[in-house]
Amino acid sequence: MFKLYNTKTKKKEIFKTKNKILKIYSCGPTVYNYAHIGNFSTYISVDFLRRYLIYLGYKLEQVMNITDVGHLKVSSDNDYDLDSKGDKIEIQAKKESVDPYKIVKKYTDAFLSDMKSLHISKPEYLVKASSNIEEMQTIILELLKSGYAYISKNENIYFDVSKFKDYGKLSGKNLDDLIAGAGGRINVSNLKDEKKNIFDFSLWITDENHIMKWPFKEAIKSGKSGYPGWHIECTAMSMKYLTKALNGKKLAKEKFYTIDIHTGGEDNIFPHHEDEIAQTEACTGKEFSNFWFHRSHILVNEEKMSKSKGNFYTMSDLKEKGFSPLDYRFLVLSAHYKSNLNFTLKSLKQIRETRLKIEKCYKNILEIKENNNFKKLNIKKYKSDFNKALEDDLNTPLALSIFLELVKNINKLNFEIYNKDEIIKFFSDFDSIFKIIEYNNEKEIPKKILDLANKRLILKNERNYQEADILRNEIDKLGYEIFDKKNGFELKKKEKIEV
Ligand SMILES: [Zn+2]
Repeated sequence: MFKLYNTKTKKKEIFKTKNKILKIYSCGPTVYNYAHIGNFSTYISVDFLRRYLIYLGYKLEQVMNITDVGHLKVSSDNDYDLDSKGDKIEIQAKKESVDPYKIVKKYTDAFLSDMKSLHISKPEYLVKASSNIEEMQTIILELLKSGYAYISKNENIYFDVSKFKDYGKLSGKNLDDLIAGAGGRINVSNLKDEKKNIFDFSLWITDENHIMKWPFKEAIKSGKSGYPGWHIECTAMSMKYLTKALNGKKLAKEKFYTIDIHTGGEDNIFPHHEDEIAQTEACTGKEFSNFWFHRSHILVNEEKMSKSKGNFYTMSDLKEKGFSPLDYRFLVLSAHYKSNLNFTLKSLKQIRETRLKIEKCYKNILEIKENNNFKKLNIKKYKSDFNKALEDDLNTPLALSIFLELVKNINKLNFEIYNKDEIIKFFSDFDSIFKIIEYNNEKEIPKKILDLANKRLILKNERNYQEADILRNEIDKLGYEIFDKKNGFELKKKEKIEV
């Protein structure tokens, strides 16, 4: 039985569902810059959960949002200080002196390509906030109608947190404590005429000068345009794509049902997920999600990652240093998702070696020609221990140590095993979830190197060894090693990782 830690109840619970198809909502990126390895650690852990559920036999549907508007610079602190507000995309567009839609395109493309190289599955619905403005407005109108939201003097629309009595239930924060805690940091005079409570968060920001803006005539009497807040997009998209309770101006609250899992990084718990819960549950009267899955943040050299500390990495930084994105994926999965993984280049190098060991073992097994003198390797116990480890809240470090023990024993037997098919099946099960094996290295080998290697093969077959050696040196100089095989050759990029 699969047990999963639930942030909502703060304990491991048996995973169950009433839905034939699991419904999963995953908070996605704000595409205003390159995502860093900390962001990707969350998407990798969520992808592992997704792949594991499929391994268990579930069918599922997952939505991920692409935030291309409305993520206020200070929204992680509940945008209480209106003087410093600003939409992250718009700020970046000004910095790069380009149209915000170009910023969105550039960083969405970069995100998708990193995702692919990390073997992160594409969700069934990958949707842009800007394509769902009408749906967000529909919910906002409903919240205004039911008194959960109000329009300020400056024609901004806020959610009134004091009206939602469960506010704080996910994070365990209590509104009175929050207000007391924020006391020193907030310039209350800014808020007096604008908001009812300092933790009221924006649903809609009226701003005629914003580059990405939409009219909202049903609510904004002056007719001025504006843009939505960040939190409302996740509410709208989960209702629209997962439960089909919302489409354009049509809201069918009775159709809404509780989704199975909502995912994100732990820094999303407050305020983002707390605010999503408030809006969704105030609107539908039903519980938003059964499970809340959060990945703990990673540290880099024992410190929080930041540009100023010089410990900030993107996927291309790692690739430039000679690593495969799969090395990073494997590093993330080698620790439990609820632990604060400490990233160092040294640990990445070590895990790369382990990963290549698994890859090599697998490729060697594929080439085994079975023989009656070979031994049978009993893998039942490995399999059941591996499954048990994952059933226990995705205990990846334990599952991995079991799998590595198997790899060690296969190597010890010098690949003289005759239940090859059974072992291949286990490897492919393992890799359907971990996804760390690169199957086709040839694809990555530049055509120039392949041409040289093929020419060398012809020369060798003609017994022209002198010329063949010249080509081997040429290949070597270009950073590749060539190994002779029975029917040809194998090419490998030379390791030149220095950390
Ligand atoms: Zn979200």
